[in-house]
Amino acid sequence: MPSEDADLPTPDFTFDADASGACVAGIRPYRCGSYRLEAETAAGRFVVHNYGHGGAGITLSWGCAAKVQDLVRARIAASHETEAAVLGSGVMGLTAATRLLDLGLTVTIYADRMFADTTSHKAGGQWALSLVEYQGKDSELKDILTTSYETFKRGGQDFGVYERPNFASKKTHNLEEILRIAPGLIPRRQDLSRMPFHGHHNPGHLYQTLLVEPPAFLKRLVDDLNARGARFVQQNFDDQTHVFSRVTQKIIVNCTGYGAKKLWKDKAMHPIRGDLAMLRHQPNLQYLYSQGGYMFPRTDHVVIGGNFDCTDNEQPSKAECKKLVRAIAMNFGLAPPMAIPENFIQHPRITEWLRQRRLAPADTPCDPPCNPV
Ligand SMILES: Cc1cc2nc3c(=O)[nH]c(=O)nc-3n(C[C@H](O)[C@H](O)[C@H](O)COP(=O)(O)OP(=O)(O)OC[C@H]3O[C@@H](n4cnc5c(N)ncnc54)[C@H](O)[C@@H]3O)c2cc1C
Repeated sequence: MPSEDADLPTPDFTFDADASGACVAGIRPYRCGSYRLEAETAAGRFVVHNYGHGGAGITLSWGCAAKVQDLVRARIAASHETEAAVLGSGVMGLTAATRLLDLGLTVTIYADRMFADTTSHKAGGQWALSLVEYQGKDSELKDILTTSYETFKRGGQDFGVYERPNFASKKTHNLEEILRIAPGLIPRRQDLSRMPFHGHHNPGHLYQTLLVEPPAFLKRLVDDLNARGARFVQQNFDDQTHVFSRVTQKIIVNCTGYGAKKLWKDKAMHPIRGDLAMLRHQPNLQYLYSQGGYMFPRTDHVVIGGNFDCTDNEQPSKAECKKLVRAIAMNFGLAPPMAIPENFIQHPRITEWLRQRRLAPADTPCDPPCNPV
């Protein structure tokens, strides 16, 4: 753990938004009320839904996969089925498929986009409860978080996972909630009288969490699934009828992320898009940082994000990426001051909406606060 007195290296915020791959955008699959993790019978099939994890899908993946495994294990104990289909090749589909192989099933993964084109591949990768609803599910979530955290830690760098401190100017809800729901799982927050950065000595907070690098993690999952005999089929489904006509397996695990809105006609699903600025890799930066946005130094890029727009348009915005970089650089005294933009997650308008959602009864409908005109 870094000491409070030592100054840590300051990031280099040089950013060329026009460079190829410098700015990416993804759609967080946000589900009002809660992520969906349950089984139903439809058209004679046993369908397990596992979608709607908002900005925390990487974080929750292994824990949700274990719950999927439990549901399928109970099913095959009675039915003796030997095959399962997984819809979706993002983090939810790949981790669920891994756990279904562990049950001894023959697994086929159907997906429109293969792993490198999914939202999961674009995620920043902090292990935190960001932008996800779980009303009334604290107890289930405690299990999910515990399984996920322990599995990620065990996998370590071979799975693209690093233990990292996160410096935050304000208490971050994403990590405070983990401390509340699963006490003792991650180390306690440390309150700092000064941030340990050259030119940036405001008071702050220090959390210890994980950084999961999605490109490395997903590639490892796919390599392992291939080595274990899972089959990948590139397929787009128009609707449920199409799924049931194309997929022969009796057990279907639905991990279609935001795609479930159309596929399963789920009105609780909302698109919350985020842009990410990809700066050059800076190996001297071994910490995460959040104030006005977030910065995750990974082994491929230093990733800067933190905006929130209600659209399913995946076209990245160079203007948004530049704003994200400037907001972080400003804190280090390396960019001119600016007010926190209204579409940043840490803007009071959005944090207040999130606070109200946490207090809302489980079935209260919601509309995320959209981009101001
Ligand atoms: C900018 C940004 C930053 C993020 N940062 C983090 C973070 O730091 N930590 C974290 O934990 N999470 C983060 N997330 C959230 C995370 O990326 C998502 O929660 C996660 O990727 C959801 O995974 P998924 O497998 O459900 O969906 P996806 O990755 O979207 O995969 C869905 C799969 O279903 C398939 N599919 C969908 N519809 C159909 C259809 N009709 N027919 C066939 N196939 C279909 C797709 O092709 C795809 O293979 C971030 C997200 C964004 C956008």
